[in-house]
Amino acid sequence: MPRIIPLVLLIVFAVSCTHPHPRGDDPAVVGRAHRWVIVIHGGAGVISKSMPDPVREGYLASLRQALRQGASALEAGETAVDVAERVVRFLEDDPHFNAGKGAVFTHDLKHELDASIMDGRTLACGAVTGATTVRHPITLARKVMERSPHVFFGGEGAERFADTVGVERVPNTWFDTPRRREQIEKRLRKEGAKGTVGCVVLDASGHLAAATSTGGLTDKRFGRIGDSPIIGAGNYADDRSCAVSGTGTGEQFIRHTVARSIAARMEFGGESLEEACRQVVFHRLNPGDGGVIAVSRTGEIATVFNSPGMFRGIATAEGRFETAIWE
Ligand code: ASP
Repeated sequence: MPRIIPLVLLIVFAVSCTHPHPRGDDPAVVGRAHRWVIVIHGGAGVISKSMPDPVREGYLASLRQALRQGASALEAGETAVDVAERVVRFLEDDPHFNAGKGAVFTHDLKHELDASIMDGRTLACGAVTGATTVRHPITLARKVMERSPHVFFGGEGAERFADTVGVERVPNTWFDTPRRREQIEKRLRKEGAKGTVGCVVLDASGHLAAATSTGGLTDKRFGRIGDSPIIGAGNYADDRSCAVSGTGTGEQFIRHTVARSIAARMEFGGESLEEACRQVVFHRLNPGDGGVIAVSRTGEIATVFNSPGMFRGIATAEGRFETAIWE
């Protein structure tokens, strides 16, 4: 009889080891029902503090509207992935930001759009780069995640995949805005705010998701791909640690695998979310490179950037609701 007890313990241990992912029924997650969190960004960079009041108000109003959409969806019990996609779709249609409508011009005066999405519950993810006719690249990324056996489609392949899944298409010129045309004409590439959009969510069941969408860098050359569609660089979500969306100099985010590094520092190094974000943004990236938004599995929130500003917003089930541009 006494031998049975160690055997039972061994079986219990073995079973628990086969379920490493926190789920809705995870003890760390139970009891947090409805304590959702949403954090969004609308890009980082040199954002002039002397911008006229109505312009600043326009950005903040857009961020607030996006947050409100996400908050009411979360309140209604929508999943993290649904909310992340929904909010990024909204921001893609908003010409203030460099994603979808209002995306920057490439060197060849076109728009090439990148996006990725990740479900922290299962580590399922999808990404597209160089999309030219897809109104909502984030939705195409989600279709890659759910309707293909692959993770990442590029350029012509992304367009061909779009043909098969029925997403809304527009001519490439639909993404044009006078402001972006002026930017490319002046080649403001190194000076302007970048304006990528991102959303990280902890839903009411305790699951995480991250979504990021961008037109990339103004004046980018043939086939250049930044961090935003690269899982682990500009976007990452894992229920074991956190969800992260980045914005800034994509080449640097790729080099330092920024989003995954933050998650790994938490998972393997035991750092808090804030600590992990600060270590990566201030001690790996160069000053001015940009920043990240993140939420952890326990609902910690971080918005950390090393550029003069980052458009951002936070809403929580407890009633926190704020938007900001500078420190
Ligand atoms: N990270 C994006 C890229 O390099 C740009 C941005 O965040 O605005 O493509």
